[in-house]
Amino acid sequence: MKKRPFVTKEQLETITQQYPTPFHIYDEAGIRKNAERLKQAFAWNPGFREYFAVKATPNPYILNILKEYDCGTDCSSMTELMMSKALNFPGDHIMFSSNDTPAEEFSYAAKIGAVINLDDITHIEMLEQAAGSIPETICCRFNPGGNFEIHNQIMDNPGQAKYGMTEPQILEAFRILQQKGARHFGLHAFLASNTVTNEYYPTLAGELFKLAARILKETGIRVEFINLSGGIGIPYRPDQEENDIMAIGAGVRAQYEQILVPCGLTDVKIYTELGRFMLAPYGHLITRVIHEKHTHKEYIGVDACAVNLMRPAMYGAYHHITVAGKEDQPCDHVYDVTGSLCENNDKFAIDRPLPEIEIGDLLIIHDTGAHGFSMGYNYNGKLRSAELLLHEDGSVQMIRRAETPKDYFATFDFSDILNGLDL
Ligand SMILES: *Cc1c(COP(=O)(O)O)cnc(C)c1O
Repeated sequence: MKKRPFVTKEQLETITQQYPTPFHIYDEAGIRKNAERLKQAFAWNPGFREYFAVKATPNPYILNILKEYDCGTDCSSMTELMMSKALNFPGDHIMFSSNDTPAEEFSYAAKIGAVINLDDITHIEMLEQAAGSIPETICCRFNPGGNFEIHNQIMDNPGQAKYGMTEPQILEAFRILQQKGARHFGLHAFLASNTVTNEYYPTLAGELFKLAARILKETGIRVEFINLSGGIGIPYRPDQEENDIMAIGAGVRAQYEQILVPCGLTDVKIYTELGRFMLAPYGHLITRVIHEKHTHKEYIGVDACAVNLMRPAMYGAYHHITVAGKEDQPCDHVYDVTGSLCENNDKFAIDRPLPEIEIGDLLIIHDTGAHGFSMGYNYNGKLRSAELLLHEDGSVQMIRRAETPKDYFATFDFSDILNGLDL
């Protein structure tokens, strides 16, 4: 798939007059079209809902766009719950899929009526104590262990993952929860990340549907919703084929009809908790070239660094780079594109063929709309960038300002030691 940016050099030169680089910019039109497509892909399931994984792009403006498509939020921490509550997401539109959960977060999630997804059997007691009682609606996270395979190909290894309960624990948990007053039950599993295949969701759904059938047989409990969680990936590399969400929806439907319907589970709601699929392609990190260096290699230094986008440094992840205005020029130079951290893994690209780059060029780093800004940090005293939203009419809105030194120093609230600070 040829990767084309959603902004042109001309647009960027205008935008950068008002908002200095680096910044993340999001494409509202793309976000909307994709959210619409996901809804269509699961329209066969009347109870379907996407709970957007807030951690991917925790920005209230983005959440409000998705809300228009009846999306809920999937939260994993107190502040994500607080943001969902502040944006008036109703409780049944907030999923709390956490792990290693602090008691006060259970208490707050219960208070705002979020759907709580238990990661461990010991959390039943903890939740009961923290919230005063077990909520009527409850979900449990399943981990089958072993490797997760599709056609004998290992996609991921749940046996090494810290999440979820074993099958015997799930059966036991459902019995206990029922005794303690739960009435509406859900199942959840997240078994492979960033899958670029149309078969991940249908295969996962098949496993969860069979588990729901066994739960019905052994406990009499009718699972009412099945949460397929995240994991639908995107083609970060130009040679990858993108997922076909319509085929994915149809694949889940085939499993539903084959496994759930025959045992009388005909009105199970399908939920998803997608993050990457919803946002990653609709974000770019825009950065300007400020330095070039010719030593043992050819280096291009930019004004963004790994604190703005951690994935290459953390996972060796590939992010496609376009030199604005040079989209159609031959990639006949090979560069390492670096940030300024005192860390040699602060490289957005290594040995990347690109058109000839000059100081002042704008680089468009693709697919930063999810797990981009949100994984940011302040190492080397670097400040977080702004986030901008490109509206459908071409106008640009700042949806988060860049940090200033004042933000960086704000937590040293001790005037005796920093009284000479000039802010
Ligand atoms: C990270 C996460 C997601 C979102 O994953 P993506 O790969 O971004 O779709 C969903 N649910 C849970 C519980 C997660 O931890």
